[in-house]
Amino acid sequence: MQTLNLIAGEWVGAPTGATFPVTDPATDDVVAEVPRGGAEHARAAIDAAAAALPGWRALTAADRARPLRRLAELMVEQRERLARLMTREQGKPLAEARGEIDYAASFIEHAAEEGKRVLGEVIPASRPGQRIVVLRQPVGVVAAITPWNFPAAMITRKLGPALAAGCTIVVKPAEQTPLSALALGELSIDAGIPRGVINIVTGDAAAIGEAIFADARVRKVSFTGSTEVGRKLMVAAAPNVVRLSLELGGHAPFLVFDDADVDAAVTGAIKSKFRNAGQTCICPNRFFVQDGVYDEFVGKLAKQLQTMVLGSGLDDAVSIGPLIDDDAVAKVRDHIEDARARGAIVRTGGEIVRPGPGLTARFCRPTLLEGVDASMKLSVEETFGPVAPVRRFSSEAQAIELANASPFGLASYFYTRDASRLWRVAERLEYGIVGANDGAPSTAQAPFGGVKTSGFGREGGHHVMHEYLDVKYVSIGITEPNA
Ligand code: NAP
Repeated sequence: MQTLNLIAGEWVGAPTGATFPVTDPATDDVVAEVPRGGAEHARAAIDAAAAALPGWRALTAADRARPLRRLAELMVEQRERLARLMTREQGKPLAEARGEIDYAASFIEHAAEEGKRVLGEVIPASRPGQRIVVLRQPVGVVAAITPWNFPAAMITRKLGPALAAGCTIVVKPAEQTPLSALALGELSIDAGIPRGVINIVTGDAAAIGEAIFADARVRKVSFTGSTEVGRKLMVAAAPNVVRLSLELGGHAPFLVFDDADVDAAVTGAIKSKFRNAGQTCICPNRFFVQDGVYDEFVGKLAKQLQTMVLGSGLDDAVSIGPLIDDDAVAKVRDHIEDARARGAIVRTGGEIVRPGPGLTARFCRPTLLEGVDASMKLSVEETFGPVAPVRRFSSEAQAIELANASPFGLASYFYTRDASRLWRVAERLEYGIVGANDGAPSTAQAPFGGVKTSGFGREGGHHVMHEYLDVKYVSIGITEPNA
């Protein structure tokens, strides 16, 4: 297991020698100690990325694609080792961790190919003797700041396209899950990515963040995390006018219409809501079900939830792992208690438990709440736990109004078998991502990102390349022979 930081191709500790522990949220066992770096450490990583930039940028897209593809292959070849490491530091069930490694690798592979299709333009000029040319060039040194809920994929969604575009990068992974990031760093060296192109620093988030935004060589910061921290980074980006991509929090609605395939809707609800114990930014937080199918949907969903198994993610039978830490437990408990106090009924679940000997008391039983209303905390804030609050609706217009009544705009879901309604609702939902009869829309080929307070910028698709490219307009004056 790699526990040191990667700077300029060397494995190093923090300048002070300080470390912090990475613990298994299922058991509280210490998995490793990693460097607690600060500003000086971050500056060394930026120096390395800046030094590596001219050489990396000068390569052809095909020459950059080759080691990137190799990195993706190595991830897949070493899926089992990487997945176990991820489950130990993050807690998600192994099957999900294996899936995340493949998913994470797919972003690198896809970006490596997209890098070859970064096209310029020649635009018809407005006068004789002028040629208008548009170049797309790498922005330069990029910093990526990532969360703990997808320890590999949230990094590769940034690193793949940044490197494919010709940028070099400094990665600052979340405090709870640095080991997956460091393992990716190790594989990047085996894959032949040159020294300094990828640098990974762990430690004091505020100090590292300050150093990144204070350094004019960093031209782009791509952040995935909470809206609260995203707002702070917008302020921090102002002095150097640093370009940002912000993938922030969500509060997804999940609508089930009377004409839905209810079994498909239940399957979609399980996939979207209960993956990663409800700790994803695109998890539905508000279920709205039309009167005609309400009882059927709620009955079938409750039955499925009762079959889910809590425990350490390392046990293959487990479908719900621990919440990430005690703050997360406190928030989920508070949301459930607040909803009950305001009149919600617990149809199933509702408890936080210690599911077995040697395990922590951080496991929330899959929970279905009925009788929910807009006054409850879970109707307005991200719960980040396996809690599905359900409300009724009677008309399409009401469903859309309820769904859009949120400052967030990341993902949304709805189920219907009416083709006209499918178009109408998809167009009216004020969200960056819509799963129409689909509970798992994320994929490397599609643009992922939010509107409103869920942020801006897109990851995946050909769209992501623009996040790491500057547009340069070159006006060329030429002499026409007969002018
Ligand atoms: P977070 O607290 O905002 O932290 C995210 C990252 O920012 C971590 O690496 C954290 O470092 C770092 N950070 C915190 N304060 C900072 C500062 N002042 N300057 C620079 N960096 C700073 O979020 P989280 O709890 O890890 O993740 C959960 C959130 O992420 C949820 O809101 C979820 O919806 C959102 N999310 C969004 C997406 C999306 O694509 N839209 C995807 C996944 C998750 P430390 O860990 O060291 O504090």
